[in-house]
Amino acid sequence: MFATATIPEGTRIIEYTGELIREAEGERRYPTAPDGHEEAEHTYLLTLDTERVIDANVGGNEARFINHSCEPNCEPIAFGDLMWIVAVRDIARGEELAYDYAIELDEPHTPARKRRFPCACEAKHCRGSILKPKRQPLHPMVRRAIATYGPHS
Ligand SMILES: [Zn+2]
Repeated sequence: MFATATIPEGTRIIEYTGELIREAEGERRYPTAPDGHEEAEHTYLLTLDTERVIDANVGGNEARFINHSCEPNCEPIAFGDLMWIVAVRDIARGEELAYDYAIELDEPHTPARKRRFPCACEAKHCRGSILKPKRQPLHPMVRRAIATYGPHS
C-alpha cells in the first residue's frame, strides 16, 4: 500500500478492521505449524492487547495488505477496542506504508525459527526476520496510547 498524499506524523491512516477474538481462538483458527513445516499463508492476525487479536480474514479491510518493514513508517496502535495504523513519521507521497509485524511465537525465537519467518524488506538495518526481536523498545506513540488506553501487547 502506498501513500497517495503526504501523511503527517501522528495521522491515524486506516483502522485495522476484522473480527475481534480471543488469542486462544486465533491459535485454534490458525495453529502455528510445527518446526520443519511451512507456515500457513497470510493469516492476517494482529494482536490488539494481551488477550485479544483481530482476525482480518473476517471483515478485514485494506489495512491487512500493508507490508512489514524492519524500519517502518507506521505502527499499529490500539485505541481501546480499535486498532489503527498510525504514521510514526512524516510520510511522503508515493512511499510504501509498512509497519513492523514483530510476530511473537510462544516458543523461543531460535535462529532456525527466525529463518522460517524471513524478512526481505530491504531496509538498511533489516534484521532478516519478521519475528519480534528480544529487546524492542516501544515507540513513544505506542507508549502514550498505552498510558491513555491501557496495556497493549
Ligand atoms: Zn527487514
